[in-house]
Amino acid sequence: MHQIPFCPNKDCGYHHQAPAGKWYVAAGFYPTKTFGKVQRFRCRACGTYFSTQTFSLDYFAKRTVSYLQLEVLLSSSMSIRALSRSFHASCATIQNRIDRLSRQALAVHSRVRRFAHPHEAICLDGFVSFDVSQYFPNNITLAVTADSLFVLAATHATLRRSGRTTPAQQQRMRMLSRAWSFEPRCLERSFRDLLDRLARERPPQRHSPLILITDEKKEYRRALVQHALFRHQDEAHRVVHLTVSATQPRTWYNPLFAANYMDRELRKDQAAHRRETPCICRNVANMLNRFCVYMAWHNYAKPFRIKQAHTPPLTHAQAAGIAPHHVAAARAWMFRERAFFSRLSLDPLDEKFWKRRFPTPLKISPEYLPRYALA
Ligand SMILES: [Zn+2]
Repeated sequence: MHQIPFCPNKDCGYHHQAPAGKWYVAAGFYPTKTFGKVQRFRCRACGTYFSTQTFSLDYFAKRTVSYLQLEVLLSSSMSIRALSRSFHASCATIQNRIDRLSRQALAVHSRVRRFAHPHEAICLDGFVSFDVSQYFPNNITLAVTADSLFVLAATHATLRRSGRTTPAQQQRMRMLSRAWSFEPRCLERSFRDLLDRLARERPPQRHSPLILITDEKKEYRRALVQHALFRHQDEAHRVVHLTVSATQPRTWYNPLFAANYMDRELRKDQAAHRRETPCICRNVANMLNRFCVYMAWHNYAKPFRIKQAHTPPLTHAQAAGIAPHHVAAARAWMFRERAFFSRLSLDPLDEKFWKRRFPTPLKISPEYLPRYALA
């Protein structure tokens, strides 16, 4: 790293913007096994010591794993154990690098998604998988642009198991629900999470209503009519809610195509969501970190269509109207410079992902978050 971009101390005046001149001085080296001799510096304003490693994705890491390779393999249905074998690293190291990459992914998405075309219709739907065991079905509710298949937002809820059960299963469910309190009306809350973001980032505008496409779940309808987005609309600022029956064929012509497509992609590309998988999610926060990496890869790296005339192929972000130079700069930055929480202005939903605040059923202790993740 030639130029140190800013002071890492969040209370320093040079944290958000460092001056062009020499605002730091060299302060010796320290030896490391993995990275060799590392240059240290001292900030002239606050006196904080830091090094080139402070700005690296591998801050505090004792070995390197290729993040680009990890991203692609993780997004190609490889399980944590398989990744650990492939990289000759422990499962904990693999998950730690995924956690780092997921924060980079959240940072990129929070910075770049605002450049997407603001008037495309949005499909909102829940992807159903499992947390911990089949007694805890979950719902990863997604907001995806209807034509460009760009994932705008996602959230998570753990549901009660429904459907046909044997008496033994019912007894087990009663036992589990004594040990774990389910979040009431969590489907409505998760839909509200997405509406909050749409209200902030893509509000209806004159001559451009906000078009929401969902299935016929009554929870979605209830959450929408109670939401400010719906209640505060007027003649010029309209919200249109288009509902599609779940029995409609899941073809390209179905208005919910974008949500159905993401459903299929997640099912085949994420090991935790394959049918009858032994790789079932054991920790919700870890699973969601893997999901964040996948979403960033889908949005900003994966080609929008397999067969397309464009070279290099358009990504989903570009299909959603984000200029190629924004996408290229964001991708380069994602793998180059550690995202600092204090320098981002994450919305509440992104912050919840960053701080790993989605609970795992039956787990009482809070999720571990290293101190450097909150710097
Ligand atoms: Zn400083």
